[in-house]
Amino acid sequence: MEEDIFEKTALCPYMCELCQKTSAIRKMDQIASEMEKIHGKGCIQNFSLGNPRVPPPKEYDQIMIETIKDKDFFLPHGYASNVGDQPGREAIAELFSKLQDTKITYKNVILSSGCAGAINILLRTILSVGDEVVVPSPYFLEYPYYVQNYHGQIIFCPTKFEDGWQIKREAFEKCFTARTRCVIVNSPHNPTGIVYSDETIKMISEVCEKYMKKFGRTIWILSDEVYCRMVRPGKKPYQIFKFYKFSAIAYSVSKDLSLPGERIGALIMNPEIKLCERNIHALSIANEFLSIYPPNRLHMRALPRLLKYTSDLKCYDECQQIMEETLKKLNIEYIQPEGTFYVFPKIPDGIDEMAFCETMVKNFIVIVPGSAFGAKGFYRMSLCLGVEAVKKAAAQFEISYKKTLEELGYGKNKKEEEKEEKVVEPQKNEVKDN
Ligand code: PLP
Repeated sequence: MEEDIFEKTALCPYMCELCQKTSAIRKMDQIASEMEKIHGKGCIQNFSLGNPRVPPPKEYDQIMIETIKDKDFFLPHGYASNVGDQPGREAIAELFSKLQDTKITYKNVILSSGCAGAINILLRTILSVGDEVVVPSPYFLEYPYYVQNYHGQIIFCPTKFEDGWQIKREAFEKCFTARTRCVIVNSPHNPTGIVYSDETIKMISEVCEKYMKKFGRTIWILSDEVYCRMVRPGKKPYQIFKFYKFSAIAYSVSKDLSLPGERIGALIMNPEIKLCERNIHALSIANEFLSIYPPNRLHMRALPRLLKYTSDLKCYDECQQIMEETLKKLNIEYIQPEGTFYVFPKIPDGIDEMAFCETMVKNFIVIVPGSAFGAKGFYRMSLCLGVEAVKKAAAQFEISYKKTLEELGYGKNKKEEEKEEKVVEPQKNEVKDN
């Protein structure tokens, strides 16, 4: 037998399939790297990643130094409990008691590795093979993989630009079957930046309740609130615990404290659930056996102090305003973001999405095609670069956008259409005159 066969069959087919998939983001990155080789580093304005460039709160370093010096703990670097250390759990409980306007204790909270860890342990705990998870589309692009991790089936519920990306009852109800186990809602929303209205959440809760009763088993609502403290002034996110009993919130400080690499996240379970402690115990087993684990001990101890601060979140309002001005100037359609640091504009009708995004990269702007999030014909811009960088990038965007449309023949077609219209008008008049 040839030795090569063992090289080829070393991985499982599922991972081989994932490796073969060239994601749209990777493709954009490749073109951007080639551009940088030709034009030099820094030639590209990169709107692709949701990796905040705004620094963590200025108090962060001091808090961490003091935490590391504080040795008044038994085995400060020893293994943690799989639910996470109590001071960190208490700090999250206090924050979410305020945000949800409900009494939450540390017993309703488990710490995990980022928001992704929190989502994964919940899915591990509730899904059986073939169970269905309903996700409104466009969606955070990692959800399908999380669901597949536990052999679940993802069911997309399409939402429309024309509806401001809000979920509509008719489309939502179509997603329910006897296998429906969970609905993941994400608000403020990546990639669109919208916040689901109370009306939308009320409808979602009613529909889940209806099908839970019909099929006789629990349907969960998992509310991904990684951007919950990043809302535009005057906007209030919904409070899921007031709407639906079998709900849990996934959260992390990755975005609002600019600490994504530290993997500090939590799952908060609705205290209304009678068997909440049993469920948290199940989640702690998932945390351990998936080796996701709570965050490191140092950050768990620092959490009560860290959570008193955020990074400069106001700057994201400014970043969105700057970009919106540019979009308006260029007559680009978009739904006004109400939170996050994203905006999700529409590609002009008649222009191919990939051609548009690739041409934009060649014109020095990296954006992510909407189909990566299940919404073809749009693109996501991440504005977490900071105000000065967004100003510079927006100016480049304006030039690149005009050039891209020109290169794709959009302006030309438009001018020809206008010309045709002008030619047609006098002809009509001539007929009339006759
Ligand atoms: N959920 C959403 C909607 C996100 O945008 C992200 C990250 O971009 C995550 C979850 C993952 O967050 P974390 O890095 O804290 O795991």
